[in-house]
Amino acid sequence: HMATIRYADGKGWYEPRVEARAPIPMDPASAVLHYAQEIFEGLKAYTLPDGGVAMFRPDANANRFNSSAQRMAMPQLPVETFLRSLHEVIKIDRSWIPEVEDGSLYLRPFAYASEVFLGVRPATEYLYLVIASPVGSYFSGGVKPVNLWVTPDFTRAAPGGTGAAKCGGNYAAGLSAQAEAAEHGCDQVVYLDAIERKYIDELGGMNVFLVLDDGTLVTPPLAGTILPGITRDSVIKLAQRDGRRVEERQVSLDEWREGTASGRVREAFACGTAAVITPIGVVKSESGEFTNGDGGPGEVTMSIRKQLVDIQRGLADDPFGWVHRVL
Ligand code: PMP
Repeated sequence: HMATIRYADGKGWYEPRVEARAPIPMDPASAVLHYAQEIFEGLKAYTLPDGGVAMFRPDANANRFNSSAQRMAMPQLPVETFLRSLHEVIKIDRSWIPEVEDGSLYLRPFAYASEVFLGVRPATEYLYLVIASPVGSYFSGGVKPVNLWVTPDFTRAAPGGTGAAKCGGNYAAGLSAQAEAAEHGCDQVVYLDAIERKYIDELGGMNVFLVLDDGTLVTPPLAGTILPGITRDSVIKLAQRDGRRVEERQVSLDEWREGTASGRVREAFACGTAAVITPIGVVKSESGEFTNGDGGPGEVTMSIRKQLVDIQRGLADDPFGWVHRVL
């Protein structure tokens, strides 16, 4: 199914509907087709041990959706409306949640400029939708490290750009970089900062953490050029609860490479909604390649992964109130 809500200036959000998923009619002059005024979110609904259904921190997705809307000159959607639209789709489509370990219903709320207008200015009409798609285990046959390609050619976001927004245009601009990574046999691209071309920003669809020899976590700061990942935020809170130091600071590719050689950097992992936490194996760049740890999943990485997955799945206490039961 899909949920839809319309918006017009002066009228606000109106006509909320849940109906069978179907094509949406579009005029060729719909503003989004020309100027890409579009934002989205991604989160999962999954089954709890008692048969209930939950989402993980959907309020954080709602807030990020509204930050993205603000950056893209789009209207704010009340958090309650965002949550209700997800509930409605999950209620009808819950039988689509695959009954495999890790199975979930991926939810994709998004909004775009639907106004029929060819001038360049913020649109006055929008359409908000939620669609859903079943996903099976991300790692069938065990957690496998990802290999990364550091792109020398492309950046993801400059200061003042849209890096902190989850807008379609960011991903359109990243497709060439992703293709370049695939040509080098890598799963994901690593973006360096746009100014000095020196510091790690993030991956194509995940945030990055390094684990130092004293157990400290290091991750690039939220300086407006990376997406504020909800998994990233959860990892920081879990690590701090365990008494682990977390440094949100700039980290250069050189520091990472030299750290793996000297033993200062023991592990590295990537995190995001799709895979939750993934160990990083080999990092390739124009100046050669290096391996994190022994190339396999690290101990700290896997321990944080288990803590997070267990909370999400309702197998461990939820001290932060992250698990949002729907049914
Ligand atoms: N960075 C980018 C560019 C992403 O697309 C994603 C996936 N939404 C993330 C980071 C991780 O964010 P989250 O943990 O909220 O999924």
